[in-house]
Amino acid sequence: MSQHHQLPLRCWAEIDLGALERNLRRIRASLPEHMRYVAVVKADAYGHGLHQVAARLMHAGADLFAVATLSEAAALRELGPGWPILLLSPLVPEEDALILSHDVAVTVSSLDEVSRFSAAAAAAKKAIKVHLKIDTGMGRSGIWHEDAKTVFDAIRESDSLDLVGIYTHYSSSDDDPEFTATQRTRFRAALYQFTDLDLSALLIHAENSAGLETIERAGPFNAVRIGLLQFGVLPHRGSLLADVKPDPVFSFYTRVGLVKILPADTAISYGKTHRLTRNSKVAVLTAGYGDGIPRALSNKGEVLIAGRRCPILGRVTMDQTIVDVTDLPNVSPGDRVTLIGRQESAEIGVAEFSDWDNTIPWETLCSVTKRVPRIYRTALGL
Ligand SMILES: *Cc1c(COP(=O)(O)O)cnc(C)c1O
Repeated sequence: MSQHHQLPLRCWAEIDLGALERNLRRIRASLPEHMRYVAVVKADAYGHGLHQVAARLMHAGADLFAVATLSEAAALRELGPGWPILLLSPLVPEEDALILSHDVAVTVSSLDEVSRFSAAAAAAKKAIKVHLKIDTGMGRSGIWHEDAKTVFDAIRESDSLDLVGIYTHYSSSDDDPEFTATQRTRFRAALYQFTDLDLSALLIHAENSAGLETIERAGPFNAVRIGLLQFGVLPHRGSLLADVKPDPVFSFYTRVGLVKILPADTAISYGKTHRLTRNSKVAVLTAGYGDGIPRALSNKGEVLIAGRRCPILGRVTMDQTIVDVTDLPNVSPGDRVTLIGRQESAEIGVAEFSDWDNTIPWETLCSVTKRVPRIYRTALGL
């Protein structure tokens, strides 16, 4: 633990590792038995902390970890010497030589990558494990589906590349199931051109969290790649995955630093964007955008104090945020303030918090800054 964990907390996130484990098990239980579980833990496990999250997911039965960068892979490798890791993002050429020293599987989307990775593997006299990525309509990484055979053949011709998986990624599984079905059809059509291949010997994967809503139970798919849902957040409102009943994993807190009375008509915070409409009691919170309360929540977001919703007044500043507590009888410095999470019967979910900021839960979780200690809750308590 770093030193600031021993100081009183001003703004912190709590990560419920028990909930994380239950979520993985529930997602698994909702899937056909043979489906392997690829746990997506990129971006410091969506801001939750890579080491603690990956250790718990491994304990819960994850089959493979997916990360975005070599440094994330290296951090994971240190934790789990034998754990299978897949790099999802393209590498820059200077990174090629490091693939083998970190013992990761990489994503291949082009003939250029086939020759680069073959050369790196040959130089090290070892094989590199690869997943062929097919672009079925995301327009990001992957070889365009109609051209997939060229890269497939090149991988098969390389003595030093070991094809262990084939995958695609959806652009719109949270809001366009029809297009997702089109992407699945394109993927299957590409796969069935690879006639000399025993698909069951490879990992064939496409579904992200939202993809699970329309998952194909038969067919070539034998793995899923899950990020958001394992952290207890549904990919969109009205998601069918509510049936999986994921528990919230992430909560976000700060505290009251100061309580004061101000007369009606006082302007609050930078730019005087809010003017008090009545004599008011305000609380100054010990967190701001430097911690991950987006400035977009100025005059818009709410927080929970003593189980009640209190609106943010004026601009959120770097280290302090002002809220209206006029209607709360007892508020004192030191009181806990919930930014995301449950307090008594009230709750602010990641999705509601993201809506205020006009963004998505994925970005909200990645936007809680380094200044905020993550506190890991286990079944034994804090
Ligand atoms: C981030 C990511 C995922 C996980 O997506 P969720 O919607 O968080 O489940 C899966 N696959 C790829 C390629 C990704 O980049």
